[in-house]
Amino acid sequence: MNSDIILRGTANNDSFRFSAVISTKTVQKMRDLHDLSPIATILMGRMLSAVAMLSWELKHPDAEITLRVDSKGDLSGGVAICSSKGYLRGYASNPKLFYESSAENFMLGKALGKGTISLLRNDVNTKTYTGTCELVSGEIGEDLAYYFLQSEQIPSAVNLGILLDKDAIIRAAGGFIIQQLPFADTEIANKIYQNIQNTPNISDLMDMGLSMQDILSRFVFKDIQWQINETKEISFKCSCTRERFVSALMLLGKQELQSMQDGIKPVCNYCNTEYHFNHDDMQTLIKQIEDK
Ligand SMILES: [Zn+2]
Repeated sequence: MNSDIILRGTANNDSFRFSAVISTKTVQKMRDLHDLSPIATILMGRMLSAVAMLSWELKHPDAEITLRVDSKGDLSGGVAICSSKGYLRGYASNPKLFYESSAENFMLGKALGKGTISLLRNDVNTKTYTGTCELVSGEIGEDLAYYFLQSEQIPSAVNLGILLDKDAIIRAAGGFIIQQLPFADTEIANKIYQNIQNTPNISDLMDMGLSMQDILSRFVFKDIQWQINETKEISFKCSCTRERFVSALMLLGKQELQSMQDGIKPVCNYCNTEYHFNHDDMQTLIKQIEDK
């Protein structure tokens, strides 16, 4: 099976820019690591797909972009992060949420309820920029389109799809974002809008075996000039290390570490990896603080 990828390109003489993503394996890995329920998988699948596409703006090799949803409903929200290298990670605030009535397990907007969507760009050399916007539907695609219009004044179309089967297998996950640049022809914008209206569910198309190039040329950019300028592989990969946990523990101070002297097993929020610090490890850390 092929790797997950993001594609970037332009349409109609560079007056529109787009990104598209195939994220099936990444979402599967996220689901499996966190044992996500179906509704949490739908949320995280859409968020990972979206943030992967938004990583197009990152310049510095250590830069990251974070997409965050906070809501008052049962599902509470989640966090998805993509680095400029194409490494994704994230967590759902309520990963095991499950409804008895099966239909409710697919009603993302209802499970999220009222809330906000935020984007945080950490591009190392440029300043971190955060924008926040109210959720309009809680389906993530529409919310992001509204976010771009409200916070960044960029008319955008965002389409995200995820198809699950009964055994927690992700059959397909992906999406596309198209942004209209200031000098774009409104007639072409309307044409693209019509094309998107006529595009079947993207994850269904992927499941039928269509490539992202097929989907873009046969549906989204039908009768419109377009081109891919860049392709990049993406994957789920957490940035956590034992050293990072050591640094975090050292910040707690001697007293706090002494209260954990029998040992602790901190767990990474993003990948569920458990790190073990036994009694001897704790003594070593306490001694390091004393020797400072
Ligand atoms: Zn981790």
